[in-house]
Amino acid sequence: MTPKRELDFSAFPPGTVTEYTTLVCLACIFEIFTKQFGLAPRSAYSEIKRYSPTIKELTSRQAVRPFFDSDEKHPRCPYCNSAKRWHARLDTHEIEGGKTSDTARRALFKTLAKKGDQFAMLELKSDRRSAFFEWLDTLRVKLDLDDAGWLLEATRSFLERREPKTNWPEIFDGLRAVRPSTRLSEGWERDGSRLYLSPPLYNEALLVQYLISRSHEHGGRTLEGRLTLLDLIRRLRRAGYLEAHGITSLDQFEVLEKLLDEVAGSGQLKLYFVVDRREFLENVKSVYASYAT
Ligand SMILES: [Zn+2]
Repeated sequence: MTPKRELDFSAFPPGTVTEYTTLVCLACIFEIFTKQFGLAPRSAYSEIKRYSPTIKELTSRQAVRPFFDSDEKHPRCPYCNSAKRWHARLDTHEIEGGKTSDTARRALFKTLAKKGDQFAMLELKSDRRSAFFEWLDTLRVKLDLDDAGWLLEATRSFLERREPKTNWPEIFDGLRAVRPSTRLSEGWERDGSRLYLSPPLYNEALLVQYLISRSHEHGGRTLEGRLTLLDLIRRLRRAGYLEAHGITSLDQFEVLEKLLDEVAGSGQLKLYFVVDRREFLENVKSVYASYAT
């Protein structure tokens, strides 16, 4: 694919767009339509052109036939062993709806709507909590938890999500450490190679680090070392965070629920999807041509 074919998402704040890619095997689809549904190649072709995969099929981490994932340069279909020219790549961008992304999204959708069936635009009702966990999952996949730099990277992603208008890449450039500062009651401040966060912001960053790396036996890894949920809650209680947010429960899981409402936000949310169908349409055409001859 040439660069000019890539869609431009630079107008969207970081953390509001997630990209998914899956491969679809057209040989498998043609087989399903002709063998299982008994359609003639010509009718199969026009059905397949209209075929629109579900959001789940496009964004699932566990692909099922006729979808599959592969990083290889010349992948083979895991179901029918067909070669690359029988496949098509489907790129899906998920946009989290909201004040910070709506203007850019409307402009993009307006442009894409003019391109007919080359792009599909879909909507899904969701809520802030699910969107937050999806963001967290994507981040976990992207980060290398064996590399010590992941804690800074996770902190940066959290801050990008929290304050999308700030130029975080610039602030994190050359940064060596992130520390809490009791001098700050809110916000942050960079001093030399250190970034100082107000205690509430710092503690929320720890919660995000905990959620990314937690495992059942060992708690999570944070800028303050390994913390269990209980350690983290004690720390937040000492810092006055729980009191400031009216969290009075003594049960750790109830406290976690309330903390998630603070960090993830609560309430409804709309998710928007852009499916790039260009390669799919092009390849369906050439696969049909080889069926019809
Ligand atoms: Zn196949």
